[in-house]
Formats: sequence, C-alpha cells, structure tokens
Amino acid sequence: MTEIAHYINGAHVAGTSGRSQDVFNPATGEAEKTVALASTAEIDQAVATAKAAWRDWSKTPPLRRARILDRFKTILWDRADQMAEAISAEHGKTHDDALGEVTRGLEVVEFATGAPHLLKGEFTENVGTGVDSHSIRQALGVVAGITPFNFPAMVPMWMFPVALACGNTFILKPSERDPSASLLMADWLTEAGLPAGVFNVVQGDKEAVDALLANPDVKAISFVGSTPIAKYIYTTGTANGKRVQALGGAKNHMVIMPDADLDMAVNALMGAAFGSAGERCMAISVAVPVTDAVADALVEKLVPKINALKIGPASDKSSDMGPLVTKQHLEKVRGYIDSGEAEGAKIVVDGRNFRQDKQGYENGYYIGGTLFDHVTPEMKIYREEIFGPALTVVRRADYQAAVDLIHSHEYANGTAVFTRDGDVARAFSQDIEVGMVGINVPIPVPMAFHSFGGWKSSMFGDHHMHGMEGVRFFTRLKTTTTRWPTGQRTDPEFTMPTLG
Ligand code: NAD
Repeated sequence: MTEIAHYINGAHVAGTSGRSQDVFNPATGEAEKTVALASTAEIDQAVATAKAAWRDWSKTPPLRRARILDRFKTILWDRADQMAEAISAEHGKTHDDALGEVTRGLEVVEFATGAPHLLKGEFTENVGTGVDSHSIRQALGVVAGITPFNFPAMVPMWMFPVALACGNTFILKPSERDPSASLLMADWLTEAGLPAGVFNVVQGDKEAVDALLANPDVKAISFVGSTPIAKYIYTTGTANGKRVQALGGAKNHMVIMPDADLDMAVNALMGAAFGSAGERCMAISVAVPVTDAVADALVEKLVPKINALKIGPASDKSSDMGPLVTKQHLEKVRGYIDSGEAEGAKIVVDGRNFRQDKQGYENGYYIGGTLFDHVTPEMKIYREEIFGPALTVVRRADYQAAVDLIHSHEYANGTAVFTRDGDVARAFSQDIEVGMVGINVPIPVPMAFHSFGGWKSSMFGDHHMHGMEGVRFFTRLKTTTTRWPTGQRTDPEFTMPTLG
C-alpha cells in the first residue's frame, strides 16, 4: 500500500515514527493507502527547516514572492482536475464539488499575488518638524496551519498563500483522513520556484499537533476544525505565547419569510443542506420557515427533491452527493438521526433507508438525505453539529422569534434570510449576531479579498481568514520614527516628546 509521506525541505520524506494509519476511499470502503503519523522529533525537524528557510524568504522582495505564487496559480488551474480527483478519492465529494473547492482556494492565491501592494505600508512626512514616520507589516517567522478533512485543498489555501506572500515560512498539518492534496500542493509550489523549506507538510494526528503547539519557534497557528479542538488549540497556543486563529463548528440557520420566493428558497436549501453530503461548515442545517403555512409549503416542496437526490461515487458524473468521509462518521450521523427520532422530531425523509447498489460501491459510506420537521431547540439534532445530509426544520411564528432562535444557538458561523422585503433584509444583516450573512444567498462564503470567519463558538481569536484580515494575522506592525541631524536641536529632552 502507498504510504503518504511528509514534505520537508523541498522533498518527500518517509515517516520514521513507526506510526501510520489507513486512508480509505469512502466511495468503496476500501483502505487504499496509509498515512505517516509524525512524532514530536519529526515535527521539530520540520520547524527547524522552516526556521532556517525564513531568513532568506522574509528578505525576498514581495514581488518575487508574488511571482512564485502566480506560477503556482497557473499550475493549479492547469491541473485542477488532477487535484479534484485526489480530493474525491479520499473525501468522497463529487468531482464538480471538488473542482469548486479548488477554485475557491485558487482565489486566495490570486489575492496573495497582490503582496507588493498589500505590504506597501504607510508613511507620514513631518509627524513633527523634520521628523518622518513609517509603518510596515513584517512576517512573523514560522507559522503553522492545521486543517480539517472537509476541504483538503481550499482550507490550506485560506492560509498558506497569504502567509507565504507576507514572508513567513509554513508548516501544514492536514487532516489524516484525506492527506494527498497537501503533497500535490507542496510539489507544485516547488515546481513554481518556491525555495526548499519555505512550505512543509507534516502528516499526523494529536501528537503532531501538540508538538506544533509546544515548539517555541512556531509563532502563529491557523486552525480550522471542530469546536472542541479549536478551543483546545486556541487555549494551548495562546498560553504558549503564539498568535492563534481557530475556526470551529457551525449550525447555520436559513430563515424563510412568508414573502420569499419559495422555489428559490427550496433550491437554495437543497444545495446548501445536501451539497457535499452536508460536510461543509457553511452548510445550512436548520431551515426556519416563518409561519406554519410557509413551513408546510416548504416541506411539501422539499420532499420529492430529497427523494430524488442521486447519491453515488464521484466517478459517476450524475451524483448529486457522495458518501460520508469515514465509517465512523457515517455511524455518528446515523446516531444523530436515531436520536432525533427518539426525541420526537418528525422524520419526513429518512436517509437511513438508503442502500447503495452500484456494483463495487456497496460498502461505501453512503447515507440518503434526511428531513426532520417539528424540531425543537432542546433536541440534540438542533443543538449539535451533525455534519451530514440531515436538514432540520424549526418552525417559528414571526421574524423576531426566528432571530431569537438564531441568537440562542452557541454557534454563529453563517446564516441567511430569504425575503423580498428590504426592511427585513437590512435589519437582519445589521442586527444578526453571526459572522457571515446571506440575503437570498444560502452559503455566503466571502470571496478571497474579503475575509472568512464566524462568531461565538464558531471562532476563537481576533482575525478572520484571508483578505486583509489574513494579512494582519500573518504579519506584525512596526512603526519607525526618523529624524536626521541637519538643523535639529541636540540638547537633551526630558519631557515626553510632543509637536511643541
Ligand atoms: P477535527 O477537529 O476532528 O480535526 C481538525 C484538525 O485537528 C485535523 O488536522 C486533526 O488531525 C486535528 N485534531 C483532531 N483531533 C485532535 C486532538 N484531539 N488534538 C489535536 N488535534 C486534533 O475536524 P474535522 O472532523 O476534520 O472537520 C470537521 C469540522 O471542521 C466540523 O466541525 C466543521 O464545522 C469544521 N470546519 C469549520 C470551518 C470553519 O471555517 N469554521 C471550515 C471547515 C470545517
């Protein structure tokens, strides 16, 4: 079986820890590869390599850094299909969905190629008589990215293009469930001209993460994953003096007002709840129809569409959604459906009944789309993130009750309202306490030149990802004040300097 290795100092490096784990193809249920799990010693070696590479990379002109990223972008465009195939083979998502992920990641590379402009700094002539001042943003040093399984290419690309453009060197610790995309990115960065040691990949699990958290030469950690781990990374990383941004889980609500275009809302819900088998942090998992009449009509229109979902492997181009990522995750999602049933929610469509009968795929981790109606806020299927193709309907009598429901939830990643009423839309956008908001847009993922991040238990830290927030996260500000001797007073000044 192929072992997926690390990438350190510009080369593939086999694991030496003696620990590895299987990587499965979720479409078939077969273990096709193994992935090395790094030891603390291997992590420390990768960090030392990245630290050594930082000296030259941080002094490389931003335009030169940008040109390397520009070449990487072209390689990625040209080989997007290859990347998408690698993603689908380990994650299970459909080919078109994987291509979409690659494109959204690529957009951050495009943004990062603007590094010379982004890092221009500020200058003020004559802050005092004969005194000038300038502010620049400088790289932090070695920074690390720890990423989840659900976007093995896009989420790393939320981080490293901006980090590298700003002059940092990078260690990526991808998800051990779908690690191959990370090595393609490493190979293609090297092909684009990135010097050895600037971008490194360490495969691994908790031991690798803990070693990154403990290593004093890692100056910042960018994390995306589930909330308990995000909290752990934030608490431990900041206690160890690191800068940390840690994005966590989600439970995204979509409010459907009585004046909404219902067909538009239904189609939006189908893609947002069931696309990528619901394994998206911006998936809509709660529909909040306002009034029972809207709820009844919504459920009636959703049922045939959910029943018609085509569920199959990525190799079948007609699939709307693929399998879940692992057998354990499939069992977890089934467990949530069991719990919703036990707690008294109405199962309108039951995804547990789905059987994959395509030859060769019978053992894949498939589950059908599920629709729960009459869900209440106390139920586990409402409180917790299911991260599967299960949509819950929580009925509310009016707009304010819908907003109160959203505000009562611990997560606040994304949300949307479907309405034709400008007043309602404006009030929602201004007042809702959620990080990313859609008005008739179900998955309001900000573009690369804006920034991505939620509020409350969906994010720990101060800076969102990519866009100018990413530049701020991966740099620190330095302000220099300059005076030259000509014509200046030379006697000592003992008072606080002022303009005078
Ligand atoms: P996860 O938290 O299990 O894993 C994320 C990363 O943390 C992986 O690299 C993993 O190896 C590492 N990790 C796991 N357990 C650890 C531990 N005990 N100690 C240290 N490190 C550990 O998340 P996942 O299952 O890979 O991804 C799904 C989750 O990610 C969902 O909750 C989803 O909402 C979230 N997510 C959030 C966003 C966002 O932008 N907010 C985006 C994508 C995914």
